[in-house]
Amino acid sequence: MTSSFSNLSLAEPLARAVAEMGYESMTPIQAQAIPVVLTGKDVMGAAQTGTGKTAAFSLPLLQRLLKHENASTSPARHPVRALVLLPTRELADQVAQQVKLYAKYTNLRSAVVFGGMDMKPQTLELKKGVEVLVATPGRLLDHIEAKNAVLNQVEYVVLDEADRMLDIGFLPDLQRILSYLPKERTTLLFSATFSPEIKRLANSYLKDPITIEVARPNETASTVEQRFYSVGDDDKRRALKQIVRQRGITQAFVFVNSKLGCARLARSLERDGLKTTALHGDKSQDERLKALAAFKAGEVDLLVATDVAARGLDIKDVPAVFNFDVPFNAEDYVHRIGRTGRAGASGLAVTFVSNSDGRLMADLEKLLKKKVEVEAVEYEEDRPRGRINDGRRHWREEGEVGDPRDALDAPAPRQPRPQREYRPAAAPRDPFFDQPYQPPATDAAPAWEAAAKPAGTRISANIKPKRKVAALFKAD
Ligand code: AMP
Repeated sequence: MTSSFSNLSLAEPLARAVAEMGYESMTPIQAQAIPVVLTGKDVMGAAQTGTGKTAAFSLPLLQRLLKHENASTSPARHPVRALVLLPTRELADQVAQQVKLYAKYTNLRSAVVFGGMDMKPQTLELKKGVEVLVATPGRLLDHIEAKNAVLNQVEYVVLDEADRMLDIGFLPDLQRILSYLPKERTTLLFSATFSPEIKRLANSYLKDPITIEVARPNETASTVEQRFYSVGDDDKRRALKQIVRQRGITQAFVFVNSKLGCARLARSLERDGLKTTALHGDKSQDERLKALAAFKAGEVDLLVATDVAARGLDIKDVPAVFNFDVPFNAEDYVHRIGRTGRAGASGLAVTFVSNSDGRLMADLEKLLKKKVEVEAVEYEEDRPRGRINDGRRHWREEGEVGDPRDALDAPAPRQPRPQREYRPAAAPRDPFFDQPYQPPATDAAPAWEAAAKPAGTRISANIKPKRKVAALFKAD
């Protein structure tokens, strides 16, 4: 099997766009999926964001749509022929940008519609006519109802990140959307895992699909352990530091709701000896790039960010995400935690819930379509007695296993010591951290397979049944 794009016989405008992107060889999902999609067969692909799957479906799809290409200004000559559905606006935006790049030398038009934005500009674009429509399910339904989007000429549907769509509870929306589409069509489904729910979805909507896996499903599973802790505003910093240390977290995103809170928190964590940087809307582009580069290089452990500043970041996998504040928009929760647990790595998403977060938590539960359990934090005894600050990064507890003082049973000497459990992340686990892609070595297993971990449970199973939110909000 060759992995060169030149062997695909892509039409010249597409080949030119690919060459311009600087891609040298196909990624595994591309090498397997493109030839199949070119034949028009349905595909069920196990692949995650970061594997090159967008090109894996959009290039062959555009190639097949070229027969409809025309330069007419009449909207009727540009009906929606391909529909790409994604769970979040961030993903929809990313995919739409890529599709635009691949299609740039063709007359095929593309557009993206997602929620949280004024419908008018989207409506204008739809009314002009687009061949490829990238959308989140809820907003697409709004446009269908408003008769802005007509889907009776759709030939290709892509259900991208299908497992996440089901996790968020988009199944009814998907079912409605699919009911508007012609029965004769090609359906492509991409998912990180082939859970029973995904298989059911595929059984209902795909015809004899070809299954493509770039790694065994058990190994590519994205596992995000979601924990919610009841923490008062004044205790959040303490809780954060404690969890970082207890869980041996090497790098994390810390999301806050305000620019001011972002800068303040980063400063105080830095004062506490944690290598921290802040990313918010008041930072210049140059400062943003520097902060990102430092984080990617492992020089920074905590990146404190607002949602706006974090949008579009090309950092796809961090070991942990903290929601220092419950997000104002429940949808942002999905964006935030989507930063962890990717590409086969397991991830941790910790949310601090304060007593004033009742409404936001209710919104979040509505979006997740499940009751969230909130745990209490058991704070370690307040120090400094016996607590050692090694002057650089973190607090280590007196009496920890391996502490040389164990043998002495003596008071803690106050002197710098070599640190042990909390090391800078020398090399991020996900190779896509260090984008751009490296062409895979011929025989070696792709890094995302090698780094893979066993599948874990899905969202609901990871939430520890301890304290009901409702109970929490009734307390004092
Ligand atoms: P995706 O998994 O589709 O989100 O792609 C992740 C990133 O990989 C995007 O920034 C693409 O531009 C890039 N990419 C996709 N295919 C290739 C390739 N064959 N070679 C190098 N980079 C690629």
